[in-house]
Amino acid sequence: MGAGRFAPSPSGPLHLGNLRTAILAWLFARSTQRDFLLRIEDLDRVRSGAEATQIFELESLGLQFDGSLLRQSERLPLYFEAVKQLEERGLVFPCFCSRKDIAEAASAPHAAPGAYPGTCRNLSSAEREVKAKERPAALRLRSEVTEFSVHDQLAGDYTGVVDDFVLVRNDGAPAYNLAVVLDDALCGIDQVVRGDDLLSSAPRQAYLATLLSYEVPDYVHVPLALNTKGQRLAKRDGAVTLEEITEHGVHPADVVAILLESLGLPSTSLQAALEAFDPVNLPREPWIVEPEKIVQQLMPPASRNR
Ligand code: GLU
Repeated sequence: MGAGRFAPSPSGPLHLGNLRTAILAWLFARSTQRDFLLRIEDLDRVRSGAEATQIFELESLGLQFDGSLLRQSERLPLYFEAVKQLEERGLVFPCFCSRKDIAEAASAPHAAPGAYPGTCRNLSSAEREVKAKERPAALRLRSEVTEFSVHDQLAGDYTGVVDDFVLVRNDGAPAYNLAVVLDDALCGIDQVVRGDDLLSSAPRQAYLATLLSYEVPDYVHVPLALNTKGQRLAKRDGAVTLEEITEHGVHPADVVAILLESLGLPSTSLQAALEAFDPVNLPREPWIVEPEKIVQQLMPPASRNR
């Protein structure tokens, strides 16, 4: 039996879009008889207390996870061990570029859009010594391809850029693309359901998995929740977190119902939705959220229009 997962970054409370993705990840895992794991991606963007809030929110929706919670911050040696192995194979190089250096070099006419331009790939050891005095190095993968193809259950075959992406950031922390690949592979995760803003990262991750002789997971990149301006839903959009919505007397089960409805599923319970779940019928368009309308619709009649 394989596993699916939900892997939030504890940067704040989960909003309706994150909660909807969590429900989708649960539906995909459970409908394929997989375990469902929770991983806290706390290598970056950590806000104190956010992990507990997110767990509380997921539990309030009625989502149940298997196994024990995994935190990336507790697995650092494992990531560095993989970097060491790649280093021994000559597949890692130090990079001294700032974001600005990369943006400038990457805007050159011959550069592949969005790709690292290779500035530090072939520095001599003397050049490295000089540069190391100015800036700490990030470690990048010496990629042997420029693109890689994955299959996504919703998007179909997808080919995307694979550049010399960062494995270890210049503050010494393992990079997201490295940690995600190792965690998925080592936890038996063979199904990755997440927002479709990460589809373009899947080729890099699948390539790295392949380099490390891991199976590439099944990918399902699901449409995001957007605000009425077509931007990714965010805290500034108003009542978008569970806490903000339930403050108005709305029960979490009603929030679940709204999320299931937005997926075209029976909204009476997660279980009912699971029984009816068929990925073929999922909406392929983003979900446009009007938080005020949702709150008005869900508020108990007595407290409406106060
Ligand atoms: N931690 C990422 C996020 O919250 C998700 C990463 C993933 O699912 O691979 O956006």
